[in-house]
Amino acid sequence: MMERVINRRDLSFQLYDVLDVASLSAYPRFSEHDKASYEAVIDAAERLAMDKFADHAHKADENEPQYENGRVVMIPEVKEALSHYLAGGFHLAHRDESEGGMQLPLVISQAIAAIFTGANASTTAYPFLTIAAANLLSAYGSDAQKEKFLKPMLEGRFFGTMCLSEPQAGSSLADIRTKATPLPDGSYAIKGTKMWISAGDHDLAENIVHLVLAKIPGGPEGVKGISLFIVPKYQVDDEDRVGDSNDVALAGLNHKMGYRGTTNCMLNFGENDACRGYLVGVVHHGLGYMFHMMNEARIGVGLGATMMGYAGYLASLDYAKQRPQGRPVDAKDPASPPVPIIAHADVRRMLLAQKSYVEGALSLCLYCARLLDEAQQTEDADTKKRNLLLLDLLTPIAKAWPSEFCLEANKLGIQILGGYGYTRDYPLERLYRDNRLNPIHEGTNGIQSLDLLGRKVMAEKGLAFRLMMERIGDAIGEAKAYPVLEEQVAAMQGAVDLLSRVTVKLVTAAHEGKTEAFLANSHEYLLLMGHVVMAWMWLRQATVAAAKITDAVGDDRSFFAGKLMATRYFFTHELPKTGPQAALLASLDTTVLDMPNEGF
Ligand SMILES: Cc1cc2nc3c(=O)[nH]c(=O)nc-3n(C[C@H](O)[C@H](O)[C@H](O)COP(=O)(O)OP(=O)(O)OC[C@H]3O[C@@H](n4cnc5c(N)ncnc54)[C@H](O)[C@@H]3O)c2cc1C
Repeated sequence: MMERVINRRDLSFQLYDVLDVASLSAYPRFSEHDKASYEAVIDAAERLAMDKFADHAHKADENEPQYENGRVVMIPEVKEALSHYLAGGFHLAHRDESEGGMQLPLVISQAIAAIFTGANASTTAYPFLTIAAANLLSAYGSDAQKEKFLKPMLEGRFFGTMCLSEPQAGSSLADIRTKATPLPDGSYAIKGTKMWISAGDHDLAENIVHLVLAKIPGGPEGVKGISLFIVPKYQVDDEDRVGDSNDVALAGLNHKMGYRGTTNCMLNFGENDACRGYLVGVVHHGLGYMFHMMNEARIGVGLGATMMGYAGYLASLDYAKQRPQGRPVDAKDPASPPVPIIAHADVRRMLLAQKSYVEGALSLCLYCARLLDEAQQTEDADTKKRNLLLLDLLTPIAKAWPSEFCLEANKLGIQILGGYGYTRDYPLERLYRDNRLNPIHEGTNGIQSLDLLGRKVMAEKGLAFRLMMERIGDAIGEAKAYPVLEEQVAAMQGAVDLLSRVTVKLVTAAHEGKTEAFLANSHEYLLLMGHVVMAWMWLRQATVAAAKITDAVGDDRSFFAGKLMATRYFFTHELPKTGPQAALLASLDTTVLDMPNEGF
């Protein structure tokens, strides 16, 4: 079992020193909180995560849910863990006190979520999907829908799902076929098949509230004709009693590479023409509602990827300190004792790469959550607008970069354990398999790259992009106060110039109508901008570390030195990769388009 999934010293540094989360208490919503109360709830979350979630992560992976006699059966530890989680009110971390919530800033509730995900991603998926569905109903549901469906979700009695994908329509939701036909009583008859539905069936709750995207016959074609419906697994009567089946049938469980503890289902709605759905908001706005909540969901995916990488990093670090193997390259005596593998340069490379990926990714995800907190609380319309624009731009990066590079971290973690890393006796291979989902779901990374370059960078004539450049400029200005960061400051400035030049070149091509060439290498652009953003995140951390190291002693000094070295690693080993990427992008290379299908 894993001993720890996060370095709490790092989490505190990021929350309080880099992001100054304590200052959020100036907003009325958080005025009852302070650093001590945040730490108390994070402590409680970590204890529960390690005692009741990490304990069965391996067992849940080895014993995936089964379909037996018409119901889904899974190991009992999942339900037990969730009962503790609900009793602790962690699903209400961000919600109002009036709803029984803790009214914590999003950045703190995300930090809590991060710890649970690192401990056991598949068990936490059940409440996380419920929280996402509840947020959507809070924002767009009617009062009656909130009373009937949201309230029991907040009480922990009903769980939720998100039903977007279909067998023939994943990335292209315009092509969904599920139909919602209006009925005289105002409800809708739902008919269709949804695919890949996480937590789509189980006995963990009294009911499951599916939020289903469907088309009303006669509506507009494509995404403009998509509406959103509440479709409960069991009907709920006027007295709010859970009753008979609502004709939602489990067509089959998918057998996945990772995340094996989370049921993942193909669901048939309305096989017997008896499935009722309830429209959320107004017709044809469904995808907009869903995407409105996507910022949070995508940051959540990025954070999940980060934490699987983070847990793997710590496991491989502990191993590297203990595993004796080989001797220093300049050791002459074959009888001298072997050294722990952490002494070898190549192992140190793999540790530093992991550290730079996972702590950098954590920094970005928390930064995004902090932006959203500020946007939601500020009364200054301009700050709100700027934060939301910046967040929109950063969201595809916060989703995709951690899911690429923290997966890479897991790969390096396995490598550090050598053959042992390839066995199921250690958590690395499971973390790697679990993490492999993250580049795929919530919009594949290919789709994220199109969203970034084709939409977000172009939005409002590049306003978000300019805002990001301004913020990076601020970070450069602050870092300049510390001579120790001189090289990084110069490199950051160079990277910013490079990104700006390439972006202008690409946007010009777009304006000239060269759409295909403009977007042909969008994934490369996402990687390039991702690395620049990550360098920015490291520069922010390094500036704080440089300020604090002078007075620091003991473990604190080592911690800040570690931050400065990881920054140096990222700037010397990773950031230079943006040079060739930029050259490729600027050339508007069309190799991938020019290849004839027959040539593959
Ligand atoms: C374990 C798991 C859990 C999931 N949970 C849920 C859930 O709870 N609810 C839900 O609704 N869905 C869920 N999904 C579905 C997930 O969101 C989709 O798998 C994903 O959106 C991709 O769709 P697809 O699988 O149909 O692949 P496709 O859309 O067929 O894509 C296949 C490949 O083609 C690429 N591609 C497709 N279109 C384009 C394009 N226009 N330009 C460039 N490249 C393109 C993609 O990037 C990808 O590499 C889950 C999936 C998995 C595997």
